[in-house]
Amino acid sequence: MTQSGAWVLVVEDEEPTRRSLSNFLVRRGYRVDEAATAAEALRAWDAHRPDVILLDLGLPDLDGVDVIRHIRRAATTPIIVVSARGDERDKIAGLDAGADDYLSKPFSVGELEARIHAVMRRLGGPDGDPDGRLRLGQIELDPARRAVTVAGSPVHFSPREYELLKVLLSNQGRLVTRERLLRAVWGLEYAEAREYLHVYVGRLRRKLSEAGVGPQIEQLIATETGIGYRVAASKPATPAEATTAG
Ligand code: CA
Repeated sequence: MTQSGAWVLVVEDEEPTRRSLSNFLVRRGYRVDEAATAAEALRAWDAHRPDVILLDLGLPDLDGVDVIRHIRRAATTPIIVVSARGDERDKIAGLDAGADDYLSKPFSVGELEARIHAVMRRLGGPDGDPDGRLRLGQIELDPARRAVTVAGSPVHFSPREYELLKVLLSNQGRLVTRERLLRAVWGLEYAEAREYLHVYVGRLRRKLSEAGVGPQIEQLIATETGIGYRVAASKPATPAEATTAG
């Protein structure tokens, strides 16, 4: 059973299909954004940074494969290609461009939900536990529920703050450059965010500190002046894991 607060972006130009997919997902507790074109999809992706994207490949304005390429330049957001096309080549092009999985129409909603669960479990990346949860000190971020707790108590974050924290916690034991954070969290608008990244990080640290992390937050997410942020390792890092990512 899903009690997920996860945000799903449904990209599909056929309205009845789009509506039925979103109605199903909303009934299952997901938050849903809808897009009927590639342009709308990219706008919605930049605005909300959804947790999972269901993407129809045949869109009126741009090929779905280009949408995947665009998103993959900045982010690892799971993408499940949903398409009526039976063509193997389309499926492979989608996967080559960086899609995580593929569903051919018609499919059952049960099958759809199983695929969503599977990609969400991988959301935490190599730093996540088997359910995809990320932990650093007393901080725990559960991507499938889009929830953050400190010592078990929920802490509220804005969508950008949440995304920022998710990217930082996915890079434990590494130095994350400002550029990389900006691209991952703000996407196309990242140039404008350049000036206030430190304001966002400051707000994030303050909330976590007040929620119980305390002054230790300055070591967990440390500023590397002029470069970015160094995230502490929850597990002892080997020299190979401690190299700069950027
Ligand atoms: Ca279509």
